[in-house]
Amino acid sequence: MNVSKSLCRFVSITRQQRGRDLLVKGFPLSTAMASEGSSLQKEDAGDEFLKEAFKILIAEAVQNGTDRNHKVCEWMEPEELKRVLDFNLRSEGESQEVLLGYCKDIIRLSVKTGHPRFFNQLFSGLDRHAFTGRIISEALNTSQYTYEVAPVFVLMEDEVLKTMRSFIGWKTGDGIFCPGGSISNMYALNVARFQRFPQCKEKGLHALPRLVVFTSQESHYSVQKGAAFLGIGTDNVILVETNDRGEMIPEDLEHKIQKAKSEGSVPFLVSTTCGTTVFGAFDPLDRIAEVCEQHSLWLHADAAWGGSALLSSRHRNLLKGIERADSVTWNPHKLLGVGLQCSAFLLRDTTKLLDRCHAANATYLFQTDKFYDLKYDTGNKSIQCGRRVDCLKLWLMWKALGSKGLERRVDKALEHTRYLAEEMKRREGFRLLMEPEFVNLCFWYVPPSLRKKENSSDFWTRLGKVAPVIKERMMKKGSMMVGYQPHGHRVNFFRQIVVNPDVTKDDLDFFLDEIERMAEDL
Ligand SMILES: *Cc1c(COP(=O)(O)O)cnc(C)c1O
Repeated sequence: MNVSKSLCRFVSITRQQRGRDLLVKGFPLSTAMASEGSSLQKEDAGDEFLKEAFKILIAEAVQNGTDRNHKVCEWMEPEELKRVLDFNLRSEGESQEVLLGYCKDIIRLSVKTGHPRFFNQLFSGLDRHAFTGRIISEALNTSQYTYEVAPVFVLMEDEVLKTMRSFIGWKTGDGIFCPGGSISNMYALNVARFQRFPQCKEKGLHALPRLVVFTSQESHYSVQKGAAFLGIGTDNVILVETNDRGEMIPEDLEHKIQKAKSEGSVPFLVSTTCGTTVFGAFDPLDRIAEVCEQHSLWLHADAAWGGSALLSSRHRNLLKGIERADSVTWNPHKLLGVGLQCSAFLLRDTTKLLDRCHAANATYLFQTDKFYDLKYDTGNKSIQCGRRVDCLKLWLMWKALGSKGLERRVDKALEHTRYLAEEMKRREGFRLLMEPEFVNLCFWYVPPSLRKKENSSDFWTRLGKVAPVIKERMMKKGSMMVGYQPHGHRVNFFRQIVVNPDVTKDDLDFFLDEIERMAEDL
């Protein structure tokens, strides 16, 4: 061992020496050769490092990160964090010991989104099967574009998308995993526009009339971003009114379509939302589908959040009519807890629209004289070149739990929401904005000093200041995290989201008690 190590060192020194000699004579390749010897040594250290790093990863990010006896977050002001963690990149590499120290610190100072008291986002939890899938994807580090470099994952993606489509109610169709729901929604805009105006791909915006799309006031902001990105323009995203539950009003949609047409604009798409981001509202798809059919508009369903309810026989009714959509966005990384990111863009189309819309037929990837069936090269469907493998984590989790296990996960999330809503009605300070229809539980907490003062003129202004203070306190303590926001005419309220399957009734009681404790003196 010692002998071989010193031999290595000897070899590396002589190679470096030779490298320098060659460099002088003008052979730039020699620098790479010169470091060959030392890189051999480094690779040995690499495996050792990996083993140690994995021990830290499992113990601290996975085990402690999901343990109620550990904090959800370790709050620090940015300036303090810059002092505590050495972010500087230097010309010289650092020792293994120091690097492992960084790994520990990074984990310690990061938010534990898998913790059972992290309620801040539409995603949380750390499913061990999905996590294993994520690690395997990372280790194999390949790209989805060709069968040549991703044989298993090309077939796997196809199967996962097919199964997802079957829950929508489609026997055929197409799809692709995208880098998030915002991009999936953008695909919908682009594909729908291409279907209506195929010349757009070559001629660009010059070839088009003024196009408009419709979506509700409660829709996700990615529809606006997509419209800006694709040259449609945010002014041409027409916002349809919603009822008091946050659902699109079909009569207003009809009215706004007619108005746009009379002004000379050309409507081409309606983006409905199945599970709005704030209230968890579901647009009435059947009635909107009728409007779309009448006007020949592409019907997109943004089910990034609510799509997973399709797995539940008890709750899939929320998305009644979704099979009539032309395309669907569905993020398993949210309610199903697969891990970021996992977002499917699904279409009913069987005419290779996705492929025709995005293909550039790069000859270095998609040679037409390959020795296998070219339909397995899916890269032309994508707006990207290299594309991550996002299907494996979902596939492995689905294999482990079965559709029934996923259904139980969805049902549990809704049961937890129901439980919290009932508890809130029993406790004095909690006030629901509305009965929850889905997993979003929106509520105000009225601290003791504000109770029974609802008629005073500054009640709402003062109530609006409560949530930010409670939030600051929970983060500084590290006990839990939940999001708040103002919305429309409503002052700051909390939006509680329980999707982590490891959450228990005790965690929910803790959540309510902790809010009461933190607001006692307000
Ligand atoms: C989260 C969400 C999106 C965006 O998904 P990302 O993966 O975060 O880009 C789009 N629409 C709705 C309704 C969402 O809830």
